[in-house]
Amino acid sequence: MTDRPLTLMAVHAHPDDEATGTGGVLARYAAEGIRTVLVTCTDGACGDGPGGVKPGEAGHDPAAVAAMRRQELEASCEVLKVSHLEMLDYGDSGMMGWAANDAPGSFWTTPVDEAAARLADLVRKYRPDVVVTYDENGFYGHPDHIQANRITSRALELAGTAPKVYWTTAPRSMMARFGEVMRELGGEWEEPGSEESEMPEIGLPDEEITTWVDTTGFGGQKFDALAAHASQGENIFFLKMGKEKFTQLMGVETFLRVHDTTGAELPENDLFAGLR
Ligand SMILES: [Zn+2]
Repeated sequence: MTDRPLTLMAVHAHPDDEATGTGGVLARYAAEGIRTVLVTCTDGACGDGPGGVKPGEAGHDPAAVAAMRRQELEASCEVLKVSHLEMLDYGDSGMMGWAANDAPGSFWTTPVDEAAARLADLVRKYRPDVVVTYDENGFYGHPDHIQANRITSRALELAGTAPKVYWTTAPRSMMARFGEVMRELGGEWEEPGSEESEMPEIGLPDEEITTWVDTTGFGGQKFDALAAHASQGENIFFLKMGKEKFTQLMGVETFLRVHDTTGAELPENDLFAGLR
């Protein structure tokens, strides 16, 4: 045991990813007195502008979008009681194949070692016990999410690893339920990995998931954090579910443990199992 507080560091690509992917664990562990550090790698400038205007359309001003999303991120952090927000402020690279991928300053074109060195400084500063980021495919193939995985792995090599490292994931059973709810709400949903979908299969078979954290008691906070990012079209779908359905569907957050020095038995229900 050390004299510094137990610390969770979540490395995310865009403003709003902290809420969808890890809003439950950020809120829950903050409530348990654990220090929470959120690192957001990009400015989110390829997101929707006011009124839902898309990048490249008339009236989409990337700098204004970035400023708006920064405010939304700060509001979300307040809801989730994030102890420290660190922004790396790289340019949002947009979806795979967009011209923004190669724009100067984009996260995707930033050499891994360069961004990883900055993240390594934060790892040295906060000495997290648990680090969470995406898997090697960035969960669904977004370049900035892939890059977040790469710089996190490299930063932990440079600064020394945390005792426990996780990638966010979703159980396939949950993806199926998610599809049903999307269709109920009138959304378009093509099962990832199915014939009609361009998206490869995402998530993991339930039995491969190592870590299931119950955050249903924090579903309201997770919902409110996402509501802070209501300017983004894809979040409006979640918000349409209402708090109760949202918590039912999104109340358990799941992870793949990729590094561990504690020997905590798997499957586990706590990112800090073996650390306290
Ligand atoms: Zn994202």
